[in-house]
Formats: sequence, structure tokens, C-alpha cells
Amino acid sequence: MTQLTMSWPQDDLGPARVVFLRLIEGVDAVVVLDNVVLGPAIGGVRMTRRADLPATEVARLARAMTLKNAAAGLPHGGGKSGIAVHTDLDSDGRERVMRAFALAIKDLVDYIPGPDMGTDETSMAVVHDEIGRCVGLPAVLGGIPLDELGATGYGVAVCADALEDAKVLTLAGATVVVQGFGAVGSHAALRLRERGAIVVAVSDIEGATYAPDGLDVAELLEFKRSGQPVGGFPGGVRVPRDDILTLACDIIVPAAQPDVFTAATARRTRAKVILQGANIPASPEAEAEFHRMGILSVPDIIANAGGVICASVEYRGGARTQAFQQIEEKIRANTAELLDRMKGSDLLPREAATQMAMARLRRGAAYRRRL
Ligand code: NAD
Repeated sequence: MTQLTMSWPQDDLGPARVVFLRLIEGVDAVVVLDNVVLGPAIGGVRMTRRADLPATEVARLARAMTLKNAAAGLPHGGGKSGIAVHTDLDSDGRERVMRAFALAIKDLVDYIPGPDMGTDETSMAVVHDEIGRCVGLPAVLGGIPLDELGATGYGVAVCADALEDAKVLTLAGATVVVQGFGAVGSHAALRLRERGAIVVAVSDIEGATYAPDGLDVAELLEFKRSGQPVGGFPGGVRVPRDDILTLACDIIVPAAQPDVFTAATARRTRAKVILQGANIPASPEAEAEFHRMGILSVPDIIANAGGVICASVEYRGGARTQAFQQIEEKIRANTAELLDRMKGSDLLPREAATQMAMARLRRGAAYRRRL
């Protein structure tokens, strides 16, 4: 039996609502609408096969969406859902759960669900069929396939462009390490390669491949698409998975799991810049350590906003070209603003990024009805 832990952190920002749902027997869900000051909350639906699903964790993820959406200047608040299933589901079972979920959130009109770990565009098509309110749809229903197009990876590369404009780095010849070669990591690698960077090492959950003169990223992607783990790529040397995180390089893109960098692993890092493709890939202590070491770690809420920017364009019926234009404009401007805020201060990048988000939230709040 799954169990939802019913406690969560609260502060002035939120959560605005926490809703517990029993979808069908043995399947519980929690929806956290963290903050809706800027508009209806966009946030993914995570489906997990864990014994327990702490509302605390869903609330943390919802808060990250509040800050990311605000920092990206989107007319959306932040939210997140977690669905805890106790057994592996076949496609009929998943559909049944998603239909029950959609009906259960029908009246939660301030929440726009999207895909996340354990859900995909097919899940969103089911939600759309029931209530017509979601993002991350299949193209035939007006969706922009953001993972296939690599919206988030593109945004990571735009962030690097802005750092180059600010003379923080030079992309031609820059050495890059990518942790996690999924939707985010593979597209970040391709886009950085297009800009002249040399991708020297890439990992997935099973291992890593290393080529000091550079990997052929397009070939590596083909190799991965054929179902093989990156460690076996003939164009590189197999190395232990986490060794690549301590390679001397210009850029590391963590694009796998949360909390990859702790204070201890941060101290062994020899990159100049970290572009956070994953959500919360570094602990607060690790981020402080990076700052002390002179490593610029651009926070997730700035660097990986490409996906949610794309989702918000989809929600308004926009096309993929508009989505990519907005990613370019917003992430470039935000990275420049982040550097400006940090200049002449001792602000950590995350503090500066949070300030940016909070300033937008405050400006948005000024337009809310008070009477
Ligand atoms: P994905 O499932 O497509 O890819 C994840 C990759 O990481 C896989 O290659 C997997 O093998 C690898 N991996 C997992 N654990 C690893 C480990 N310990 N070491 C090395 N590699 C490991 O996922 P994704 O959509 O690319 O998302 C990656 C991260 O980025 C997640 O944290 C996600 O929440 C975050 N994110 C994704 C998007 C998006 O648009 N997809 C947007 C913002 C943030």
C-alpha cells in the first residue's frame, strides 16, 4: 500500500493549496499549488512506484516551479503533482489512473498539469481528453514535443551564449562534460557542439564515455537511440560513471538527478562553469562551495527553464518557432541579469536568481485584487 506523508513546509509564498486525492483503490495522489500570484500554476505530474510519496517533496518541487516560472517571466505560478502507485502498471492501468487523476483535478482550475518523471505525452492526451487543460500534448493535439526538440537543452546552450557575450567563457574549443544523456543532456551536448565546444565526456546511469579530443555527439546519440548505454560507445573510452564529474573542463552540464554535487564532491570539481540542466543537481552547501572556489554555477531556475517556456507557449496555442524564440530571449536576458546582480556583490548565483524571481512575484502581486 502506498502512503502519502501529510506535512509540508509553508511560508509567505505558499503553498496556496495542497490537495490529497484517492484516485482508485491503492493509488493516491497529492497536488501542490504552491503560488498562483502570476497566473495558473504549470507543473509536472510525477508518477512513482515508491512505498511513500512525501508531500514535502512534491511541495519542494512545486516551489522550484514557482521560482522558475517567475524568473522566466511567465504568466504562471508553480505547482506539482505526485501519484504513488504500488505496482507496475500496463498501458490500460496507466490510462485508468490518468483518467481518474484528470477528473479529480477538473475543478482545480488554477493548475495546468504537464508531463514529468513517469508520465508522458500520452498521459497528457488522456488528461486533455477528460478536461482539456494540460501541456505537453502530442503534436496532433497541438503539442510542441519539447523533449524530442530539445527545448531545455537548447536553453542550456543559450545560457552558455549569454556567458560568452559577458566574456565569462569562450565556446569555441571549450571542453564540456555532460552527466545524463537523456532529453536534456543529449540536446545540450548537440547544441554546445554546434557552437564549437568539444564534448569530452558523457554519462548515463550505467557508465560513461570519455574522449579527450572530443566525442562525435551526433554519432553518440545514434548509438544511444539504438538502445545501447553510452559507456560502450566505440568513439570513446569507457570510464567509471562518476569519474567524469571531476575532470578538468570548462563546462559541466549535470542533466540527470538531484543532489549530484554535495559539498565534498563540489570540492573535487575542476570545471569553470556549471550549467544546471537537471533540477537541484547541487545541494546548497555545494553551491556555496562552488562560489568559494570561483566556479560559476548557473541555477536550474535560469538554465533549464527552456522546457517550461516551451510548455507555456504551447498552452497559448503557439508554434515551436515561437517557443524557441522565447527560450532564446528569456534565457539570454535572464543570464545577463543574473551576472549583473552578482557583479560587485557576494551574492551566490542562486540568491541572485531567487531575487529575480521574487522581484517578479512582488510586481505581479501588486496587480492582485485586495478588496
Ligand atoms: P531523461 O530520463 O530523458 O534522461 C536522464 C538521463 O540521466 C538518462 O540518460 C539516465 O540514464 C541518466 N542518469 C540517471 N541517473 C544518472 C546518474 N546517476 N549518472 C549519470 N547519468 C544518470 O530525463 P531528462 O528529461 O533529460 O531530465 C533530466 C533532468 O533534468 C531531470 O532532473 C529533470 O527533472 C530535469 N529537467 C528536465 C526538463 C525537460 O525538459 N525534460 C526540464 C527541466 C528540468
